[in-house]
Amino acid sequence: MALDKALGLLMGYATPQLGVESVATFDADGCVLAQDVVSGLTVPPNDNSAMDGYAVRVADCALPGAVLSVAQRIPAGSVGTPLAAGTAARIFTGAPVPAGADAVVMQEDTRALAEGEASGAIDKATAWGSVRVEVVPQPGQWIRRAGEDVAHGDVVLLKGERLTPAALGLAASVGLGRLQVSKRPRVALLSTGDELMMPGEVAPEAMKPGAIYNSNRFFMRALLHRLGCEVNDLGIVRDTREATIEALQVAAESNDLIVTTGGVSVGDEDHIKAAVQHLGHLDLWSLAMKPGKPFAYGRIGNAHVTGLPGNPVSSFLTFLLLVRPFLLTLQGATHVAPASLAMRADFGWPRADRRREFLRARYNAAGGLDRFANQSSGVLTSMVWGDGVIDTPAGESFKAGDMVRFIPFASLLS
Ligand code: AMP
Ligand code: MG
Repeated sequence: MALDKALGLLMGYATPQLGVESVATFDADGCVLAQDVVSGLTVPPNDNSAMDGYAVRVADCALPGAVLSVAQRIPAGSVGTPLAAGTAARIFTGAPVPAGADAVVMQEDTRALAEGEASGAIDKATAWGSVRVEVVPQPGQWIRRAGEDVAHGDVVLLKGERLTPAALGLAASVGLGRLQVSKRPRVALLSTGDELMMPGEVAPEAMKPGAIYNSNRFFMRALLHRLGCEVNDLGIVRDTREATIEALQVAAESNDLIVTTGGVSVGDEDHIKAAVQHLGHLDLWSLAMKPGKPFAYGRIGNAHVTGLPGNPVSSFLTFLLLVRPFLLTLQGATHVAPASLAMRADFGWPRADRRREFLRARYNAAGGLDRFANQSSGVLTSMVWGDGVIDTPAGESFKAGDMVRFIPFASLLS
């Protein structure tokens, strides 16, 4: 099955159903908004100064070197009085521009005439001295206008948007200390395979012949955490029908999604399919993608199940390209497709594959892409070396210098 077709089916199964909760804006990074965020005020609330300097009337400074008496001092957080003609207000960044002023002159373009002001030696309550404006100001200069960021009633963030650090700042700027977001998906993680050992439990020199370390478990857990999931790691499941059924049954009781790795292809030691079928129902696809071929989707009670291939790169990429959008859709996210870029390949790929192929590649200093030498589905080094994957359509080859479609890991790993 073509990847896009599988993705379409999967998206159809991912009915948002997790429910809504209120979280502190502080804790909402990565959450999916469950309602629009509407501003109840304008940001900034007043015209304010973009510089430390002097608020002036432009008409008073028609020639360079105009001298104005400094009649008031307006630090951020306080409000001045209307600016009288022939005077300037000492003003600081973020302070409201007083009525009557139509420009701010930055401190660097002025000269304070009262000696000692800079050092604070003069009595600020009574004597401000005067200022010489060396440069003729333009009307409106260095004034940030009220509402230039957000107008009262603006929808600043949309339901279905995934909150980024910038979005948290914007929500805070309109006064929201809490946000309505989708609940976190509860995800059970199972690693299948009798060959799997845990790093830290068995030392490299003590590994039995045929044993390998469970690497999938480590990146899966990290990937799930990055997607805001509550991860219930159920460890390694032995390659028997009974153990697999038991583990899936337990996992289905209190999780929204079960992610398994390995045991999903056609060998005698592959029990995921039969176990899911036994407990619920199963749709199995052989994906026309490379790396990553066997992929199972099914359902046990209320839990979705995605069975990923065992080979680490296959497992990693099927997670990024299928499970990631599935999990985001479950949370009600509206934008789930990774961003991709047109980039120049600085290598040729003459052997077109029948399957859509994802080549691990990285940026080079010439502004193009190099590929990792070994593109095998078991070589996790390629995923660490690479900055992303080149998405090569089925049946297509390319020459060095051709433009290709590049999906940076940065757009898949958050
Ligand atoms: P399977 O689909 O179970 O036949 O696994 C395919 C390949 O992936 C085999 O070489 C497995 O040893 C390997 N593999 C399966 N699970 C893991 C894992 N958790 N970590 C590392 N390699 C794995
Ligand atoms: Mg296996």
